Amino acid sequence: MNLDTKLVVLNQIYKIYDEFAATLDVACKQYCAQCCTRNVTLTTLEGYKIAHYLISNGKSDLFEKLKDASHKKRFQPLTTTNQLAEICMRGDEPPEEENDPSWGRCPFLTDNECPVYPVRPFGCRCFVSKQNCSETGYADTEPFVIAVNNVFLQFIEHIDAQGFSGNLTDVLLFMASDNNRQCYKDSTLTNPCDGLISNAPIKVVLVSPEHKDKAEPILRSLQSIKVPREQI
Ligand code: SF4
Ligand code: SF4
Repeated sequence: MNLDTKLVVLNQIYKIYDEFAATLDVACKQYCAQCCTRNVTLTTLEGYKIAHYLISNGKSDLFEKLKDASHKKRFQPLTTTNQLAEICMRGDEPPEEENDPSWGRCPFLTDNECPVYPVRPFGCRCFVSKQNCSETGYADTEPFVIAVNNVFLQFIEHIDAQGFSGNLTDVLLFMASDNNRQCYKDSTLTNPCDGLISNAPIKVVLVSPEHKDKAEPILRSLQSIKVPREQI
């Protein structure tokens, strides 16, 4: 799959998720941004989409905001969702991850608004809560929604299986480089920067037996995404 095709498929995945999210009863609303921490992660495919949006919309100064905050502690994952699924399938212990919302707010956040909202990564789209987090201090998310979110994360990683994942700051600073974006486009990226980890294809979809039947229609929608014919 070439990059344009992957981006079309990514948009279709986002659309399926947005339709699912519209059926949920959540407290999330505009300017509610407690969940916008500096710990958001994403794939290089999503990072490419955001970098392209920033550059084409005259918002490249936002790369500087990321750079200015890049010395600050943030969640840098050791495993991707598909790697985690494989570890679980083998019955092994996943590595311990260090993640703390008190490490601070997303460096993109401006006056409680997201300047990349139309192209925000899946990690932001899927963060929903039944009750306002600023009142409870935590997100109240149904286990079924968390299960569905993991399935979407697996599919997004799968279409970017030759790419990488990492913290939003690391992926975006990597994608700020014309050379890195071109190498990504040409599928010649071999040497990610510190903090990025290799993606993996889906070997097993992580859905527990109690969620299997309810998740079936969503899985069918994801599996029936039509991959457009590629232009040579
Ligand atoms: S997840 Fe919590 S903080 Fe984020 S928009 Fe929803 S209610 Fe607000
Ligand atoms: S990218 Fe946007 S939606 Fe995601 S955490 Fe940052 S400000 Fe919030």
